[in-house]
Amino acid sequence: METKLAVPIAATNPDQAIRQIQSARTAGADIIELRIDYLENLTAELVERLIAEVKKGGEKPLPVIVTCRDKREGGIIDYPQAFRVDMLIAALKAGAEFIDVEYENFRSTDVRERIQRTLSQYPIARLILSTHNFETKFDNIVKLYHNITNICPEAIPKLVYTANHINDCFEAFDLLDQAESECIALCMGEAGLISRILAKKLGSFLTFASIDEHKATAPGQLTVEQFRKLYRCDDINADTELFGVIADPVDHSLSPAIHNACFAEKGMNRLYLPLLVKGGSLEFDTFIINARLRPWLHFHGFSVTIPHKHSALKYVETNQGVIEPLAQKIGAANTLLIGPNEKLAAYNTDYAGALDAITAGMGITRADLKALPIAVVGAGGVSRAIVAGLSDAGAIIKIYNRTVEKAKKLATEFNCTFSPLEDLRKMDARIIVNCTSIGMHPKVDATPVPKEALNSDMAVFDTVYNPARTLLLREAREKGAKTIDGIAMFVNQAMAQFKLFTGTGGNPDLMKHVVLERLSS
Ligand code: NAP
Repeated sequence: METKLAVPIAATNPDQAIRQIQSARTAGADIIELRIDYLENLTAELVERLIAEVKKGGEKPLPVIVTCRDKREGGIIDYPQAFRVDMLIAALKAGAEFIDVEYENFRSTDVRERIQRTLSQYPIARLILSTHNFETKFDNIVKLYHNITNICPEAIPKLVYTANHINDCFEAFDLLDQAESECIALCMGEAGLISRILAKKLGSFLTFASIDEHKATAPGQLTVEQFRKLYRCDDINADTELFGVIADPVDHSLSPAIHNACFAEKGMNRLYLPLLVKGGSLEFDTFIINARLRPWLHFHGFSVTIPHKHSALKYVETNQGVIEPLAQKIGAANTLLIGPNEKLAAYNTDYAGALDAITAGMGITRADLKALPIAVVGAGGVSRAIVAGLSDAGAIIKIYNRTVEKAKKLATEFNCTFSPLEDLRKMDARIIVNCTSIGMHPKVDATPVPKEALNSDMAVFDTVYNPARTLLLREAREKGAKTIDGIAMFVNQAMAQFKLFTGTGGNPDLMKHVVLERLSS
C-alpha cells in the first residue's frame, strides 16, 4: 500500500486556510488535512467552503481529512464535543473522504452512533480513529491498537506518541510491521523524526509533513520539501535499505544531504537518515540492538560521530565483529557496517580522509609524509585520528594544545612530542594541521596560529569546514603557503564511507556541491 503524504492546514481564518491549501497543493501533498479546530468562528458553511477549495484542484482534486481535535488530544480551540461532531458530520456531507475522531470520544455511545449513522450514508468516506500521548510511549500500544480495531473494524487506527528517545520509535515500527490492515503509527518530537520518514517504508496509511517549518502541527514534523527532496519519499518502499548518521546533536549534520544525493544519483534504493541517539554507550548499544533485531528494517550501515565513536568501536569488539587495525589504535570508529548474516565491522575513515586531503593538496603521496615535521594543533577526537594516521605514515609530529596534559597523553601514546599552544610562534614544521574548533562559525575572526609563524614553505590544513576559508587559511595564503580546507577531508571521509556502504564510489563533486550549498544557506 502506498503511504500518502498528508499536509495539515493549521489556519485561524478562511483566507489563511485557502492560502495554505494552495501552498500544500503546490508543494505536492497527497492529502490535505483540515485541522478545523484551529479555525475561529467555525461553522458548517466554513467547513463546506474549505472542502470545496480543496476539491477545486484541477484534474486531480486532493482527498481531504477533516479533524476537529479535542483540546485534551492537542486541539487548539476548545469547541464542545457535540459541536465538533456536528462539524465532522457537515464535513462528510460536503464530500470529505476522511474524518478523524479521537478513539476516547468515539467510545461514547452518543458520538459513535452519530458518526456511524452518517458514515453509513457516505460509503466512500472513511473514519480515522486516533489516540495521542504527548508525554511518552503508550503503556501497551498493541492492546490499544486492538481496542481501536475492535470498536470499529472498518476504521483506520492512528496511534501517535512522543518519543523521548529514538529507541522509543521501535514500538511504532513493530506495530506497523505487524498490523493486519491499514494503520497509522507515528512518533512526535525530535527523537521521533525517523518514524515520519520510515512510515513510508513500513506502509503506514499516512505520514504528515508541513508546508514550512512554522506551520507544523506536531513537534518533529518535517516539511514537504525535506520529505520529497532530502529524504526522497517518492522512492522509499518496503525494500529500501537504510543507513544513517548516529550523533547528538544531529540536526546540522551534512551527511544525510550528501549521502542521499549520491544514492539518488546512482538510482540506489537506499536512504540515509539522521539518527539522534542521546545518552552514552548504553543507549547507543540499545539502538544498534534494536536495529539488528529487526532485519525487515534493512539497516546496513552507520556513520558515527560525537559522542558515540568510542561506543561504536566497543560494540563491534564485544560482538566479535571485524575492526580495522587503525580504528582500534585510534580507539574510535566513525563507520559501522551490518553485513550479511548480521556480521559487524568497524572502520575509521576520518584519518584516511585527512591524509588524502593533505597529500592531494600538496601533490605528494603518503610515503612522502615519512620524516616530514608536522605541527598538529589540538588534542581532541579529530586530532587523535589524524595523529594516528600521520604517525602510521612515519611523520615527525609535535602536538600543540591549550590543555597541555591532553597533548602530553596523546603524544606519549603515539610516540611524538608536545607543547603548549603559545609555542606555535616558534614552531618549525612543513605542515600545520588545525584540529581545534578555533575559527569555526560563528567565531570566524579567530585563528589558532599567529600569522608571523606562517611561511611560504608550509602547507596549512584546517579541519574546520564551516567556513571553508577560515582566517587561518586566509592568512596562510597571504604568506604564500599551500592551503587545504576541511571540506576536502569531509568529502574524503564521506567518499570512503559511501564505498564501504555500497561497494562503489560516490561522486566527490556532487558531495562538495551539496556541502557548499548547505553551508551557504
Ligand atoms: P574535541 O574532541 O572537542 O577537541 C576540540 C579541540 O579544540 C581540543 O584540542 C580543544 O582544546 C581545542 N579547543 C577548543 N576550543 C578552544 C579554544 N577556544 N582555544 C584553544 N583550544 C580550543 O573536537 P573534535 O571532534 O576533535 O573536533 C575538532 C574540530 O575538527 C571541529 O571543531 C571541527 O571543525 C573539525 N572537524 C572536521 C571534520 C572534517 O571532516 N573536516 C570532521 C570532524 C570535525 P582543549 O583540549 O584544551 O579543550
